[in-house]
Amino acid sequence: MRFDVITLFPELFAPFLEAGVARRAYASGQIELKLWNPRDWAEGNYRRVDDRPFGGGPGMVMLAEPLARCLAAIRADRADVAGQAAPVLLFSPIGEVLRHAAVEAWAGDARGAILVCGRYEGIDQRFIDAHVDQQVSLGDFVLSGGEIAALALLDAIARLQPGVLHDAGSHQADSFNPAVDGLLDCPHYTRPEEWGGQRVPAELLSGHHAHIERWRRDQRLTLTARHRPELIAAARAAGRLAAQDEAVLARVADAQAP
Ligand code: SAH
Repeated sequence: MRFDVITLFPELFAPFLEAGVARRAYASGQIELKLWNPRDWAEGNYRRVDDRPFGGGPGMVMLAEPLARCLAAIRADRADVAGQAAPVLLFSPIGEVLRHAAVEAWAGDARGAILVCGRYEGIDQRFIDAHVDQQVSLGDFVLSGGEIAALALLDAIARLQPGVLHDAGSHQADSFNPAVDGLLDCPHYTRPEEWGGQRVPAELLSGHHAHIERWRRDQRLTLTARHRPELIAAARAAGRLAAQDEAVLARVADAQAP
């Protein structure tokens, strides 16, 4: 699947394409990434990509025209990809906050996408109105550019590609995955068995597979009930909680009661 990124800072991407497990998704060609700098489509000796905002005020605004030309070049270059026009995503605090379900949908979407990274105060609204299909936010805070949001989305998509993580399906045990009913992950421990006076929970050393799985499920339920109760409500509404799960949750609720 192919992603094209429009960014004034393409050099920010390289380290993330070359390191860690995500690298495998690019090396194997499962994800093809092309970086496009709107400055290459800007005019004049200074190749201007921004200007002062109409109406005054601080900062600069990205010009619509270099972005539109850059996008047209991407469209021409992509002509054959999956036979369908790729959607244009803009990273912006306006967008819906990125969650697992959306990442999973993108990870399985053969069209890929064209990702637009804003800078400065943002980009001319007329480009957004004319070309952007969807806006995506990383959270309720402001970044200095969309690149970190683009990298976050690409990293999350890369680790869901088959074979990218060492253990096939290991991402299915991760937080928010439908395979664990959308719950948070359980705590993890490794050697030594005792560290700083703290022992690894005995269940994990028992060698008894069913006990270990039950312990992990109980931990997931307990942590999720404490930290993200809305995820418990969603799992319950989806019919994903068994009687044994509800018994664990009732104990958590009792322990939390004043
Ligand atoms: N004036 C804008 C912020 C501009 S920050 C506002 O107040 O909403 C510059 C660029 O960083 C934005 O165009 C956007 O692409 C990116 N950005 C900033 N915060 C972001 C967030 N929470 N999620 C995704 N992208 C963000």
